[in-house]
Amino acid sequence: MNRSLNIEAQGLLPTKPDNTYFYPWLLFVVVAFYYWINHESWHSHPAKSTPVPPITPTHPATSLKPRPILDPDNLQDYPLLSKWDISHNVTVFRLGLPQPTDVLGLPSGQHIALAFTDPETGKVVARSYTPISTDDDRGYFDVLVKLYPDGLMSKHLQALQVGDLVKARGPKGAMVYKPGMCERIGMIAGGSGVTPMLQIIKAVLAQRPTDTTQIDLIYANRTFDDIVLKDVLDEMAEKDPGFKVHYVLSQAPENWTGSIGHVTKAMIKERLPPAQAGTKIMLCGPAGMQDSMKIYLEELGFDKARLVPKRDDQVFCF
Ligand SMILES: Cc1cc2nc3c(=O)[nH]c(=O)nc-3n(C[C@H](O)[C@H](O)[C@H](O)COP(=O)(O)OP(=O)(O)OC[C@H]3O[C@@H](n4cnc5c(N)ncnc54)[C@H](O)[C@@H]3O)c2cc1C
Repeated sequence: MNRSLNIEAQGLLPTKPDNTYFYPWLLFVVVAFYYWINHESWHSHPAKSTPVPPITPTHPATSLKPRPILDPDNLQDYPLLSKWDISHNVTVFRLGLPQPTDVLGLPSGQHIALAFTDPETGKVVARSYTPISTDDDRGYFDVLVKLYPDGLMSKHLQALQVGDLVKARGPKGAMVYKPGMCERIGMIAGGSGVTPMLQIIKAVLAQRPTDTTQIDLIYANRTFDDIVLKDVLDEMAEKDPGFKVHYVLSQAPENWTGSIGHVTKAMIKERLPPAQAGTKIMLCGPAGMQDSMKIYLEELGFDKARLVPKRDDQVFCF
């Protein structure tokens, strides 16, 4: 494009340019160059999504006002900065925000949707995820994903390389945690269902001592290796007397100090707050587990969980 412009320019310009011809041509060349640089249809290579400046994984908080990036209506591209395995089938994906001072803009308790177009079917695949980072983290956000061998989104995410773009939209979901919305929260999580709980726990603990909400979490998994973020949860429980975590494994190793088997009604009664005003129960896990928990909770006097949950429900199912 540049070369042809120069050839044309050479043919049309007088041999000894005076200002009458030279400046309009100069302006034309500058404008043409600008469009060549910026207008994707002028490029010979296929259009790519908006490039995002490279950023380092961690950024110290700055005094600049953080800019929330999420858009609830539009999918936006976020580059994969890094990824690391935290267990045999769980990977954390760190996605970059446009500027080091930007925040995702996700209220505690809500989640995002990741999406891609399946090349085989041409259909858009969208799945919900609850980032494990918060808006205290600037310039990036972390999504913890349990990868299923036959999962559509799992396979897509697993194949991503650093620098690839991931489409996301949000915030989504009925739960927005606000300090003082309850006095005690009982949580039951299974597997990767711990991610929304982590969001809420972090939000509560970040507001201590103003937020006095007590949290009790029952966290169920199949094996010890399936427990994700155990070190994070244990550290928070150690530091904060208002947060307690109890682990349940269906296949426990030797010297296991948590419970063995499934989450039972007796366990909920023993470990979680009773059904009374000021108490909220949060549930997240595989469908079968959620169904059993809803029955136990109702038998223990809690409100029936609604199919479409509302923020103020006594039993809230993510
Ligand atoms: C509000 C919300 C927040 C969520 N947050 C997270 C999160 O932070 N991290 C995360 O990893 N997931 C989260 N999920 C689950 C996530 O949205 C997907 O359902 C999951 O990643 C599987 O998607 P997939 O496309 O890989 O598998 P799919 O193609 O949907 O499923 C393929 C197969 O995977 C297996 N599978 C899928 N989901 C489950 C399950 N829950 N239990 C057992 N087997 C299953 C089944 O064998 C299924 O047949 C969340 C879900 C919701 C509703």
